[in-house]
Amino acid sequence: MQNQTIIQYFHWYYNEEQNLWNKVAADAAHLKEIGVTAVWLPPAYKASTGGYSVGYDVYDLFDLGEFDQKGSVNTRYGSKAEYITAIDALHEQGISVLADVVFNHKAGGDELERIPVRTVNEENRNEFTSDVFEIDAWTRFTFPGRDGAYSGFIWDQQCFSGVDWAEDLKETAIYSIQNSAGEGFEDVPSTEFGNYDYLMFNDIDFRNQAVVDELKYWGEWVVEQTKVDGFRLDAVKHINPHFIVEWIDHLNQKFNRNFFIVAENWDVVNTAEQEEYIQITAGKTQIFDSLLHHNFFLASKEENNFDMRTIFDNTLLQINPELAVTFVDNHDSQPLQALESYVEFWFRPMAYAIILLRMQGIPCLFFPDLYGGIYDDQKEGEDFHIQLAILPELETMSKIRTHLAYGEQRDYFDHGNCVGWTRAGDEEHPDSGLAVLLSTGEEGWKTMEIGKHFAGKTFIDALGKHEEGIVIDEEGFAEFHCHAKSVSVWVQTT
Ligand code: CA
Repeated sequence: MQNQTIIQYFHWYYNEEQNLWNKVAADAAHLKEIGVTAVWLPPAYKASTGGYSVGYDVYDLFDLGEFDQKGSVNTRYGSKAEYITAIDALHEQGISVLADVVFNHKAGGDELERIPVRTVNEENRNEFTSDVFEIDAWTRFTFPGRDGAYSGFIWDQQCFSGVDWAEDLKETAIYSIQNSAGEGFEDVPSTEFGNYDYLMFNDIDFRNQAVVDELKYWGEWVVEQTKVDGFRLDAVKHINPHFIVEWIDHLNQKFNRNFFIVAENWDVVNTAEQEEYIQITAGKTQIFDSLLHHNFFLASKEENNFDMRTIFDNTLLQINPELAVTFVDNHDSQPLQALESYVEFWFRPMAYAIILLRMQGIPCLFFPDLYGGIYDDQKEGEDFHIQLAILPELETMSKIRTHLAYGEQRDYFDHGNCVGWTRAGDEEHPDSGLAVLLSTGEEGWKTMEIGKHFAGKTFIDALGKHEEGIVIDEEGFAEFHCHAKSVSVWVQTT
């Protein structure tokens, strides 16, 4: 079987002339060539800021760039027809497609309602700071531009547990809605701020069965309309986990298959919360390993003071590797974004070697590392011009993952700066097997075992950083090399 590789095919500032759906369709054959098996596409439905939106301020899940709503027919990425054409093009290359799904909230309501609320303490959302009073809030969603197509469901105050804007008062706060579904916020995995159910906009209330049924129906609809193969679930730490399980079970039963699901449960310190989430959801979703990303970030900042023997400490890769989707960065961690923690450029090839060439985890490539990214934005009132450079080693490493990163893994995480591992290869993949050595300090060398079946064979540096080959000795060992602050990937000459 071929190793799986996902790509996040967008970043926060993707804004090129070519619409994204057309770009990915044209790129499908290339993605297959470099070993990509699944493409995660950005939110495809209409958001409250229409054609400008990255997509996370979701307005209408049933408008995939088809109706004139929020100032445009198309989304930022193109039309519904172009989205479906792109998915078909990826399927023709045997590549799966993951749709990005935001279930936590809705934004851009069509009509005001007079609703009973209580304010809560932002630092402790279990604490009410007022008696019940009424405000005007944008909680009614009628989708006039869609006019009942695909679904006649109208969202109203009964569908939400909280809002952050009182139109009549012109005031921002966290307003807990007193509706018939329940008192206060729902139980969610994150206990940050007492209860982190409320994240932003109109928070969806999964205690309302009509809402649950509508979202199950939407899941069926989107699979039938687009033929997507799986989902990336946004912000699950703010969502009732029992709903997530129910929704996944429903779709799997309905279509008699196991959809690939990866959840964003962002956390950079608390391994226990990740473990708890896996327990509650019975391991039904893969999870992005944000803890590993954070270790990469620290290693890239601390340079040779970071002890590389600890790079896997407290990561999902360590506690539950079967569920880990590993990544170096994403659209939230990139420069100027909400969770900014961009791994420094010098360390990125090492981070990618770790996620691509080892046995554990399903890696997810980040768009700018393959295609670059140039953008301007402000942060804390200051202007920035950002240039994210293409990582020249990445395509080569991704191909090596696809063809050669198989078989037994021998680890040499035995030095603070210089670590490595070997893969013994297997019979199914011709010429497979490799050795990786990386150093965050001085030039490195290490004697590593790769297997007696390679005795007498010559290995070369596939990243082209060394000209001389290395010959494996009779016992299956060799001394492998890498330059200072560099990674080398040694593969058999063919
Ligand atoms: Ca929520």
